Amino acid sequence: MIELTDVSKVYPGGVTALDSVNLTIPDGEIHGIVGRSGAGKSTLIRCLTGLDPATSGSISVDGVDLGQARGGALMKARRSIGMVFQHHNLLDSRTAEKNISHPLEIAGVPAKERKRRVEELLELVGLTDRRRNHPSQLSGGQRQRVGIARALAAEPRVLLCDEPTSALDSGTTRQILELIRRLRDRLGITVIIITHEMSVVREICDSVSLLSEGRIERSGALLDVIQDT
Ligand code: ADP
Ligand code: ADP
Repeated sequence: MIELTDVSKVYPGGVTALDSVNLTIPDGEIHGIVGRSGAGKSTLIRCLTGLDPATSGSISVDGVDLGQARGGALMKARRSIGMVFQHHNLLDSRTAEKNISHPLEIAGVPAKERKRRVEELLELVGLTDRRRNHPSQLSGGQRQRVGIARALAAEPRVLLCDEPTSALDSGTTRQILELIRRLRDRLGITVIIITHEMSVVREICDSVSLLSEGRIERSGALLDVIQDT
């Protein structure tokens, strides 16, 4: 479970990017956070990943407070969140399989285990036959599949997706969202999708929060929240 309690972020200079955000996301849920440009979405992501601490309030993942945890416990909590980016941030010098195994290399996972995991991840995202292609030789949707597999390499409990389909056409968007849903069903992970597109939320989310000027304006089950938007 992910729990944000009274999370605020004030940047030096005085901009309040997050203003007393309270949010609980149960395990296994696909939760959308929707907001226009400037609403505070990127700030929320940086706080969730522990990259940039909140000014006040607390964020906990499976009971571990990101602001209080130190050392091994903090590393573990951070690793429990896998990131998927809009522009996937893949290394073009590496093949699809090498991109996926990169985080495992950094984590010091032995070669044999890496190979087994990469095999499994390629299968999971349906890219086994593209494993030796470089990102520039793949379609936008295939690149995003590589990005998703890489995010899953460390077996996170949470997949945090930052505008995962904003660079894709509508057909590919649907395929990627279907993949994300299938991964949730199969792995039991929690998914957070940050987006400015309500259509993405309608298509895949169980629950949604509307973020505006750093505040959660409404939050709840998809159908309750989008009725009148
Ligand atoms: P979004 O991702 O929804 O577009 P951001 O989190 O980037 O929103 O921005 C929220 C608010 O915080 C905006 O008013 C933005 O100008 C401000 N902001 C973002 N990053 C910084 C920063 N590093 N320093 C100062 N202000 C910032
Ligand atoms: P099982 O419980 O039969 O292993 P799962 O559906 O739980 O099947 O997982 C399928 C495969 O995905 C497993 O081999 C497992 O190692 C791997 N897996 C489980 N959780 C994750 C995760 N969060 N990210 C990536 N792979 C995972």
